[in-house]
Amino acid sequence: MAIILNGVDASVAIRSEMSAEVAQFVAKGHRPPHLVAILVGTDGGSMTYVGAKKKACDEIGFTGTVLHFEDTITEDFLLSEIDRINNDSNIDGLIVQLPLPKHISEEKVTEAILPSKDVDGFHDINMGRLAKGSHGVKPATPFGITLLLKHYGIEIAGKHAVVLGRSNIVGRPMSMLLSAAADYGNATVTLCHSRTQNLKEYTLQADILVVALGKPGFVTADMVKPGAVVVDVGTTRVDDASKKAGWKLMGDVDYPAIEPIASAITPVPKGVGPMTITGLMMNTLVVYKEKFGS
Ligand code: NAP
Repeated sequence: MAIILNGVDASVAIRSEMSAEVAQFVAKGHRPPHLVAILVGTDGGSMTYVGAKKKACDEIGFTGTVLHFEDTITEDFLLSEIDRINNDSNIDGLIVQLPLPKHISEEKVTEAILPSKDVDGFHDINMGRLAKGSHGVKPATPFGITLLLKHYGIEIAGKHAVVLGRSNIVGRPMSMLLSAAADYGNATVTLCHSRTQNLKEYTLQADILVVALGKPGFVTADMVKPGAVVVDVGTTRVDDASKKAGWKLMGDVDYPAIEPIASAITPVPKGVGPMTITGLMMNTLVVYKEKFGS
């Protein structure tokens, strides 16, 4: 039976430690950390994610502000709001929930956020620092995964980590974090993608297998080495008439078949999802502490 890497339990523990740290800063007379989330339009998934981020801020003791704009706003207006927030010393972190309406360039918006406030870790400067292994904000989802592995005492150094998917928000930065010369890294990493040939040859070598494809149930039990640690990032909505919403979230791995052979595995939901928000909150605390000391 595998250890279930429960992102809700880990988040409760990590957020409570963060909350205690925030309380100490406030007791010294500092304002709490302040995270601003910009939401454009009324996409259901985006509204849920932003709501969860606001709730996490409230729980930890951050100030969480949601700026909700109509999807008819112009790119110039959004860029001017980002500029205003960049220049507001009372705001530590800024995220713009993606996706944005088609008439607004996500690239321009991401690059407009001050790197020191980019707590999603998507800015080129932060990605560049990550690639160099130097100090910078780490992309929230892969960072959250490293926090989850650490919470459950999973050894990473010296292990062979195989990452499926090379997106800029998950797979590629995950490969960089796991291979970094740092306490959350030091693994030997193989990064696979849609052009990888004989994928199973690689997945079967994985001590740690991180899957970020967006293809429900893609990884089957015959692709996993017995005793591997399996991290399933995938979250795809699939029809499910038995659910009130008419859908459920499915991960990229065949959980019922793999759980008995893995040494540890993340469920979907309640695995990586909450850890993404915890990674985001940790990034916000880190940039705050850079201002007010540790
Ligand atoms: P993405 O940008 O669509 O990237 C998917 C990656 O999978 C690409 O690199 C693609 O390769 C690769 N791929 C596709 N088919 C493949 C195949 N047959 N064999 C090997 N590789 C293949 O997706 P993403 O943004 O990384 O997201 C991946 C999943 O994670 C989605 O379900 C998303 O919803 C979920 N997600 C969850 C969280 C969370 O907090 N839980 C956060 C972010 C994302 P190419 O580059 O060659 O096309």
